[in-house]
Amino acid sequence: MRYYSTRNKKAGESFAVAALTGLAPDGGLFVPETIPPYPRAVQASLGSMSFQDIAFETIKPFAESEIPDPVLEDLVCRAYPFPAPLIQVGDRLVLELFHGPTAAFKDFGARFMALAFAYLRRGEDKPLHILAATSGDTGGAVADGFYNVEGISVTVLYPKGRVTPLQERQIAGLGGNIRALAVEGSFDDCQRLVKAAFGNGDLKKRLALSSANSINITRLIPQAVYYAASAGKAFAGKTDPLGDASPRNSKFVPSGGTSGTFRAVAKQPIVFCVPSGNFGNLIAGLYALEMGAPIRGFIAATNSNKTIPDYLDTGYYEARFSKATISNAMDVGAPSNFERMVAHWSLQETRRMVHGVSVSDEDTCKTIGEVHKTTGYFLDPHTAVGWHGVDQFQPLRSFGGGSLAVLATAHPAKFAEAVEPLTGPVPVPASLKKALERKPQARIIPADLSALLEVL
Ligand SMILES: *Cc1c(COP(=O)(O)O)cnc(C)c1O
Repeated sequence: MRYYSTRNKKAGESFAVAALTGLAPDGGLFVPETIPPYPRAVQASLGSMSFQDIAFETIKPFAESEIPDPVLEDLVCRAYPFPAPLIQVGDRLVLELFHGPTAAFKDFGARFMALAFAYLRRGEDKPLHILAATSGDTGGAVADGFYNVEGISVTVLYPKGRVTPLQERQIAGLGGNIRALAVEGSFDDCQRLVKAAFGNGDLKKRLALSSANSINITRLIPQAVYYAASAGKAFAGKTDPLGDASPRNSKFVPSGGTSGTFRAVAKQPIVFCVPSGNFGNLIAGLYALEMGAPIRGFIAATNSNKTIPDYLDTGYYEARFSKATISNAMDVGAPSNFERMVAHWSLQETRRMVHGVSVSDEDTCKTIGEVHKTTGYFLDPHTAVGWHGVDQFQPLRSFGGGSLAVLATAHPAKFAEAVEPLTGPVPVPASLKKALERKPQARIIPADLSALLEVL
């Protein structure tokens, strides 16, 4: 498979180059030349295959001839030792994507990216150094994904005092090959420093540098897997039984997946509601649809940063400054994956597959409280945006229900400060308990390049 820059359709690159350089040299994002359809036999058995087998079949054509089959099989097994259950909550389905080590869906992309990097760099003697800036959530997933991966070390920059105590422990509590720098400044300062470091000739001579930000194609592709797996499951009329790890109180009564307005209806393609910020997750869903997973379409739910819903509405794209909301991992005014959206699909095509909605903080909070009161299930603020997005999108009701799932992008305990005042205490999963016990060991640096270069 060849990969093109969204800004230059001529010069194709290999999977390895697209992976390890992240951003194309012209500033564009890498996109695959085609979105390969699943073989018939695979498409027909998505409902009965294991998650790892679906991951293998989904990723394989994107890395064809560059990652041999047995290696890829091993990679997906090591990347995904945790489930992505599709369960019934109240009148709809929820796809829980927070059972990974940092309790957010970004684990699916970050873990595959780390293992793919290690394989693609095999035999190189210069160790690879990853530089990443984070406002909170991404840094933890990247740190965890690369932790103890041989031949790779990581430096994560985060704004000192502006991430939650839990996020700080996820980023700075691991040690080993993960170095954390608490920058005296904002997230923008962190990003500026990383960019400046990449532009520094001396440093590039000394270290093999790469980035691990959300636009990397190796983070995007594996996210198509949970869409295909859950769409296949629902199409077979199946859901997962409720596990112990779902965030709920004793009032929660699972309804068995057959009684909701929106439930797993056999032979009916599913609609996903995707809480969106940078739109990587949504693009991955569109890849799964194009590959042939039984998906009818998407509701893209944003908070008040509604650049894409407005684009779908008016046909005009207008980047904006981001506004702060309680679903802060989605506070993006200029979603970088918009470039991928238009590289693959016209406005008309996108409108056929995606409906945009924007949800206020007020409605997000109301939703967290109401869903907890009526079902006993805890939503985090991002998932609550998705939940309310479904309620706001009335045309679905007029279809009379059907297969529909909201993506639960983070565990509510990760955002306990916002959730608990609305619901009472949230159960904390084992992964987060473990992280909370760690001691953050970040080095504090001023927001200037010389300080960063000195550390590196
Ligand atoms: C990153 C993130 C999102 C937004 O995902 P995009 O791919 O950027 O649209 C939503 N929810 C949570 C919890 C996140 O961490």
